[in-house]
Amino acid sequence: MSVIEHTTSYYAASANPSPKRDALQDSVTADVAVIGGGFSGISSALHLAEKGFKVVVLEGARIGWGASGRNGGQIVNSYSRDMDVIEKMYGVDTAKALGSMAFEGGDIIRERIKTYNIDCDLKSGGIFAAVTAKQFKGLEEHKALWERYGHTDLELLDKSAVRQEVQTDRYEGALLDKRSGHIHPLNLVLGQAAAVESLGGTIYEQSKVLRVEEGEKVKLFTENGSVTANYVVVTGNAYLGNLIPKLASRSMPCGTQMIATAPLTDEQAKALIPSDYCVEDCNYLLDYFRLTGDNRLIYGGGVNYGGGDPDDIKQFIRKKMIKTFPQLANLEIDYGWGGDFLLTMSRLPQFGRIGSNIYYMQGYSGHGVCSTHLAGRLVSEALTQQAERFDAFAALPHLPFPGGHTLRVPFTAMGAWFYALRDKLGV
Ligand SMILES: Cc1cc2nc3c(=O)[nH]c(=O)nc-3n(C[C@H](O)[C@H](O)[C@H](O)COP(=O)(O)OP(=O)(O)OC[C@H]3O[C@@H](n4cnc5c(N)ncnc54)[C@H](O)[C@@H]3O)c2cc1C
Repeated sequence: MSVIEHTTSYYAASANPSPKRDALQDSVTADVAVIGGGFSGISSALHLAEKGFKVVVLEGARIGWGASGRNGGQIVNSYSRDMDVIEKMYGVDTAKALGSMAFEGGDIIRERIKTYNIDCDLKSGGIFAAVTAKQFKGLEEHKALWERYGHTDLELLDKSAVRQEVQTDRYEGALLDKRSGHIHPLNLVLGQAAAVESLGGTIYEQSKVLRVEEGEKVKLFTENGSVTANYVVVTGNAYLGNLIPKLASRSMPCGTQMIATAPLTDEQAKALIPSDYCVEDCNYLLDYFRLTGDNRLIYGGGVNYGGGDPDDIKQFIRKKMIKTFPQLANLEIDYGWGGDFLLTMSRLPQFGRIGSNIYYMQGYSGHGVCSTHLAGRLVSEALTQQAERFDAFAALPHLPFPGGHTLRVPFTAMGAWFYALRDKLGV
């Protein structure tokens, strides 16, 4: 089998040293076998190893090879659909249950970094930037909503205040979330993988699960080995393919892309984003950016429904960057890369069980840095007979996309085009 390395990205180029793990070549046993070595899988493995479970992780490529090692690194609180929508769609009790966990994922990340001394360029503070007056009004409501759910470390910034924080004239205002922040995502997941191993967990790379045999004990087969486990946790997300058809049928992989510029000087960086916050705008098809530990601007955007990337990622994203920062038109772009996240119809994560011993968590719909870390804690609770919080998510319906498997991509793209047009017109 050919060896799959990390995609060429700024993150891969600046990754902390990490061992190449062996592929599974044997038949082994575990209390819990985890499919996938991204944030969800490694967070699950770490929470479970801390609780004394014998854990084996099977990763098809390298740890952090998927979205977790390629993303914007923004610690975005709450979910892709917020509690106001959850209240309307699923009722006040569900909103309360999910709302009580909406700010926990970021805390888990900060705790992990501290406990396991993970060097991943953690910075504090994130901005939601309004491109239109209507979006700014929406941010006022957003602040009130989050305050209602207990998060009060928030500050509205008017047009001139946001100009002090981000050197662009594009924004009408912003909401500063002081409990947000950013990290080097690949280094975060690599650090947590090392922590799993320090607690006795085993991680195999280049070990794609090709078949799942359900039963009282579950058996996972790779090309050259197998794991027999009491429980399995499935976290392949957008890269799971059709391994478990039920999980593929109500979700859709989507591509999004990023670039990293050449390093800015200290003065340029300080002028561009003086407080070193991460930023995402409020457009339906949003742009997101931040500075790295070595002063590069990382800029992302675009959504390719169905997954995959445009031919020239650097050019595609550079245009967006220059719209926000025309002063960077002459800056070299050193890296361009893409990755797939998994969209759900409700934009809420899909958690659940298949039979009694296969658990799955997927579909964070573009905002997964925090929720994946929460997911790991929740599945570890569920496997120690405290399933209430996992089940609050598992009870959400997994809605089909309109158009079924054949037409879901064009239908969703059409919907997005409509919302993007509304953003452009400011209505
Ligand atoms: C470019 C980009 C930017 C993003 N920016 C942000 C951001 O700034 N903030 C934010 O909150 N969210 C962001 N996201 C979303 C976030 O990255 C994801 O929601 C999150 O990383 C999902 O983690 P995961 O572990 O579930 O999946 P992944 O990280 O994709 O991991 C899945 C892993 O499973 C493995 N796998 C799949 N099938 C098998 C199999 N059969 N056998 C073994 N292994 C298998 C894959 O190789 C992969 O490593 C972004 C996503 C992308 C793509």
